[in-house]
Amino acid sequence: MSQLTPATVLELWEAGLGSSPAARADLLLVSAVADRRDDRPADDVEDWPVGTRDRALLEHYCPRRAVLDAVADCPACGSALDVAVDAQALVAESSPGPVTVDVDGHRVVVRAVTVGDLRAVPAGGSPEALRDALLERCVVRATYDGSEVPPDQLPPAVVERIESTLDELDPTGDLEVVLTCEDCGERWSETLDPVRFAWAALESSARRLATDVHTLARAYGWREQDILALSAFRRHLYLSALEP
Ligand SMILES: [Zn+2]
Repeated sequence: MSQLTPATVLELWEAGLGSSPAARADLLLVSAVADRRDDRPADDVEDWPVGTRDRALLEHYCPRRAVLDAVADCPACGSALDVAVDAQALVAESSPGPVTVDVDGHRVVVRAVTVGDLRAVPAGGSPEALRDALLERCVVRATYDGSEVPPDQLPPAVVERIESTLDELDPTGDLEVVLTCEDCGERWSETLDPVRFAWAALESSARRLATDVHTLARAYGWREQDILALSAFRRHLYLSALEP
């Protein structure tokens, strides 16, 4: 999170508080891309596979080794666990495709789901409606015996294969972590959503900053914008001077 200014952290947090997860992902992405120092053109994010977006969000917003507060309850004893996870290391590379899938006489050319797809599909529909809309966009061409088949008329077995192919192209939709309970030794795996993870990291930074602003403003009478303009080093210096 070192690239973000304190003021930006608070602005993003405030802007995303009441938003849906999809809108938050977009908000975080736009800011992450605007902050990048490399030469990639900013307007290509529509073509990014979702996993590439997730990787960019984790790189931009999550510290190298983030501790997730009480991310999970032990299924055996119910203890709440704080988990330290290197989220960036969990993110696999994604491939945009396209790839060709042959199943039951059908030949389907399919590409990974992109940021543009997620922006284009209507929000708030059923999971089935979402799947159909994404299928419509990600199936580049489908044929049976050489003749064209519309994506919505593909048999369930073919759709299933397409979905597993989409997962293989872009395996980062969910971060799978294996957890061990410190209290009872139970081991299980938990799935973490990268957007939720990035948002949680931003939120905990924002809450810490807000507390610092409150403490310094009350003690010294400084204005919020002046406190946020301080370097982290000097902020901590003045805070530590207040400690008894
Ligand atoms: Zn336990």
